[in-house]
Amino acid sequence: MTTASPTTGVVSFAEARHIVEQHAATVSPGDAEAVDLLSAFSRVLAEEIVADRDFPPFPRATRDGYAVRAQDVAEVPASLKLIGEIKAGDSPTSAVNVQQGQAVSIMTGAALPWGADAVVMVEYTAQSGSAVEIERSVRSGENYVPRGAEARQGQVLLDRGTRVDHAAIALAASVGKGWLQVFQKPRIAVLATGDEVVAIDKDPGPSQIRNSNSYSLAAQIQNAGGEPVMLPVAPDERVRLRALIEEGFDSDLLLLAGGVSMGKYDLVEQVLSELGAESYFTGAQIQPGRPIVFGSCKRHTRAGTPSTVAQGRSAPHLHGRYFFGLPGNPVSTMVTFELFVRPMIQALSGRRPQPLIFLKARLKSDVRTKTGLKRFLPAVLSGEFENAEVELARWQGSGDIAALAGANCYLVIPPDREQISAGESVSVMMR
Ligand code: AMP
Ligand code: MG
Repeated sequence: MTTASPTTGVVSFAEARHIVEQHAATVSPGDAEAVDLLSAFSRVLAEEIVADRDFPPFPRATRDGYAVRAQDVAEVPASLKLIGEIKAGDSPTSAVNVQQGQAVSIMTGAALPWGADAVVMVEYTAQSGSAVEIERSVRSGENYVPRGAEARQGQVLLDRGTRVDHAAIALAASVGKGWLQVFQKPRIAVLATGDEVVAIDKDPGPSQIRNSNSYSLAAQIQNAGGEPVMLPVAPDERVRLRALIEEGFDSDLLLLAGGVSMGKYDLVEQVLSELGAESYFTGAQIQPGRPIVFGSCKRHTRAGTPSTVAQGRSAPHLHGRYFFGLPGNPVSTMVTFELFVRPMIQALSGRRPQPLIFLKARLKSDVRTKTGLKRFLPAVLSGEFENAEVELARWQGSGDIAALAGANCYLVIPPDREQISAGESVSVMMR
């Protein structure tokens, strides 16, 4: 697929992901706002971070020792005359100028004096009075970083669209930025559906279950950089479901959970099509999560009049509002969010596209599955350092929240594998 044209039907995992990524590439984030440096943590940069001066701003010693002229210590041992000391923070004074046969005692983080072109580590020296004996040669340039070697003044250090992690915070601090411009978080509506699903502050009847999906989704939305907008649970009844879906389209993205399977009361797709929504796929060859739906709907005003121009905080785009109909089984809801919803939220939050990357681990015990679907099964990653081992969590299927909560990753099984033996290298999706 080269364009984001409507495609219906069940597609492979890779196609489904690709379709979402193509649509995600068409959306824009909301406005920028200024926040103080620490509040910018895990937000998305709406400005570039630029070097306000050269980095390092002076030739910086990276070892404690003696600043020397490399040519003076080409043959060792060599005895040099000690002419001074420079601590970190001492202003580089032209008074200290290392000439032939001379050395200056220097500390890590201090500015290399004029004339010197290397630092000999203190471990390879012996000082006695005003002389220092050098026991090891150094190359010119060794043990210091030249001024501007890391970055030149004016150079872009981080692009717009970068998520601010602790290293980005350090970088912003190092260029003196106490405030950062970040994108406003996209508002992501969460709509759980199902007659059997009750709010968590209600006592569930004997055949009812509490709404857990809205909460797992809200947590995942926050983690992906969005602001959850929680809607009440929709019953499996057209009119109320439709009203809540329309309310959901007031947000930048709508996530529905449940009601997308083949059951008689799985009304989500019907109601969406009544609203004029189009679907880009109505299933993916994966397990769990096969019934996932992805599509968009031209905006409807509350009065029900179609409007082609999207309104809301994120910039209007061709397709109005995007939505995902996620399967209601809690494990399916969580997995399909990670696989497909996350990239759309990242795009709405202003982030550059992030590839989905699986890591490798050694399978701890044999796995047997049926072929035909790509599987993302709750698993436990253990081991230490380079010895990552993974095994399937014991679970009772896609409704088993406890099993997923006890797991820490997903084992990714290709659709053509029926049997995978212990010891094989397998793909793992972290969560
Ligand atoms: P559905 O996708 O509507 O067919 O639902 C699949 C399964 O997930 C059913 O067993 C539902 O009871 C369960 N389920 C649906 N919605 C939720 C929810 N919000 N919280 C917990 N379980 C749910
Ligand atoms: Mg249902």
